[in-house]
Amino acid sequence: MRRRIGIMGGTFDPIHHGHLVSASEVQSRFGLDEVIFVPTGQPWQKVGRVVSNAEDRYLMTVIATASNPVFSVSRIDIDRGSETYTVDTLREMRQIYPRDELLFITGADALEQILTWRNVEELFELAHFIGVTRPGYDLNDHHLPHGKVSLVEVTAMAISSTSCKERVARGEPVWYLVPDGVVRYIDKRKLYRGDS
Ligand code: ATP
Ligand code: MG
Repeated sequence: MRRRIGIMGGTFDPIHHGHLVSASEVQSRFGLDEVIFVPTGQPWQKVGRVVSNAEDRYLMTVIATASNPVFSVSRIDIDRGSETYTVDTLREMRQIYPRDELLFITGADALEQILTWRNVEELFELAHFIGVTRPGYDLNDHHLPHGKVSLVEVTAMAISSTSCKERVARGEPVWYLVPDGVVRYIDKRKLYRGDS
């Protein structure tokens, strides 16, 4: 049987409730059998910015998704050991799941950038794209190839990983912005402290 698999790529530094609500909404709306979160290797769009250790980002993603039976986490981008290009992620997913339907989930900000990504034409051959609303960004499919992208309105969560990191660095709480286990993990590993 052909399964429908959602792929949610991200830096997840840290994963927060904006990511989880988006994935859950798309899972339900499109009847996905599974949503696979794929934390990036060293991300090229963020070169020059400090990105936390891949193992910490991977573990926070596992902690945040563990209780959901249809969420899972893949190490493919981390284990590739180079900068992540979405085209590589999707090629590898296509090899792992040759017969299944792949839907790549992305926020409005990333969707705006998509035409600047590597191998755009191939991207749209490999997966259907789902663009989700994100506060502060305009969601539209102008300039994107017809029929290759679906737009979905999700409950507005004005949360970003950047703001979570800044809060931790200032000693402010991130309770209820990220899952409880992720708050504990950030604390345990002393992530995002201003001095590190
Ligand atoms: P950063 O501030 O480091 O860029 P981020 O919050 O944007 O972090 P990413 O890991 O860059 O998180 O995002 C992964 C994916 O999740 C992207 O497609 C992004 O658009 C989407 N996304 C992130 N936050 C939200 C949100 N609050 N609502 C909807 N989509 C989101
Ligand atoms: Mg981002």
